[in-house]
Amino acid sequence: MNWHRTFDGRIVDTEGNGPIDDADPGDAQIYLDLSAVRPVFDGRWHRVQLDRVPTTGERLTMLCGREKAVSFADAAERAAFGVPTCCYECDVVYRRSSGIEIRSGRPAARER
Ligand SMILES: [Zn+2]
Repeated sequence: MNWHRTFDGRIVDTEGNGPIDDADPGDAQIYLDLSAVRPVFDGRWHRVQLDRVPTTGERLTMLCGREKAVSFADAAERAAFGVPTCCYECDVVYRRSSGIEIRSGRPAARER
């Protein structure tokens, strides 16, 4: 990733991999914390490494290796089909890559 948005809302994209929808500087920007994004499918929330906001329909590969197309929804709808639980495979990959100990009592310890 090698793009950034200037203070007046312009996108400077030297490699052509930045946002597709160039915002009007007068628009209200909604800033997403990419480190907090947890894609939900099959009743589980997964972890994914993002370096930019994905576009609708773009395919993402989760840390567990599962791949899904992106769609967006209001967070209030997250539990519409039951409260999603952690994908333990993603949790293991995340913890190992972050140097976080996987204690024997954690569900992720069973996925080793
Ligand atoms: Zn996962």
